[in-house]
Amino acid sequence: MADFRDLLFSRTWTDDAACADSPDPDAFFIEGNSSDRDATASLRALGAFLTCQRCPVRVECLSEALRTWRVPIPTNRRVTGIGVRAVGTWGATTYRDREAVASLPIPEAVARLEADLPQRIARRIEAVGEKHPSFRPPVPAG
Ligand code: SF4
Repeated sequence: MADFRDLLFSRTWTDDAACADSPDPDAFFIEGNSSDRDATASLRALGAFLTCQRCPVRVECLSEALRTWRVPIPTNRRVTGIGVRAVGTWGATTYRDREAVASLPIPEAVARLEADLPQRIARRIEAVGEKHPSFRPPVPAG
């Protein structure tokens, strides 16, 4: 049996989450649609995506978000299916990004979303540039 200290001090992937230190945690809950409409929101959403891009536990985070699609949806009509699924930005994906691959096995879904990450970031940078003419794209880390 695990000693309670093992449980108390055991680390999980969330301990290494880059968003834990984010100065703008609400930016992770700006979904694609609202960022399309509002210039400031699009810039904040890009900030969340760039945080995810450098996050060391992005794959774990994305897997966790995709797992919530496997939670059975209650049949009670007062509870909507969306209520059991992760919303917001997880692993540099939106709800819709995850929805598009939700029927795939999780490792395959993660691999697809990871392969598409540079394009998703590029689309967001482009969208911000259209709304903020003076915006200069961030220089990729490397
Ligand atoms: S991938 Fe993004 S949302 Fe997930 S833990 Fe890392 S910074 Fe947070």
